Amino acid sequence: MKLTTEFDTPWAYSDKILKLKTGEWKYQRPVVTESKCCRCGVCSLFCPVGCVSDMGSHFEANLDYCKGCGICARACPVDAIEMVREA
Ligand code: SF4
Ligand code: SF4
Repeated sequence: MKLTTEFDTPWAYSDKILKLKTGEWKYQRPVVTESKCCRCGVCSLFCPVGCVSDMGSHFEANLDYCKGCGICARACPVDAIEMVREA
């Protein structure tokens, strides 16, 4: 099979895989209410793709890589994350 990307395999180079915006397609996305976020970091720990970061005042997903699974919203102990349908 001939691959159409510059990469040998999808997971060959961990430093280069971030070029692929794996969050381009998803049907919902997490929206954080900053005032509710207590910065516990649970969403970051549970996110299966590791795309949640500490922004200083709150935690937030990098939507370039978020798959919209909703696990972060289910795990958040203070319900600071709402899943919103993509347009
Ligand atoms: S919706 Fe899923 S992929 Fe996106 S930030 Fe939350 S846990 Fe991570
Ligand atoms: S789990 Fe909720 S309260 Fe904790 S850092 Fe994430 S958004 Fe903030």
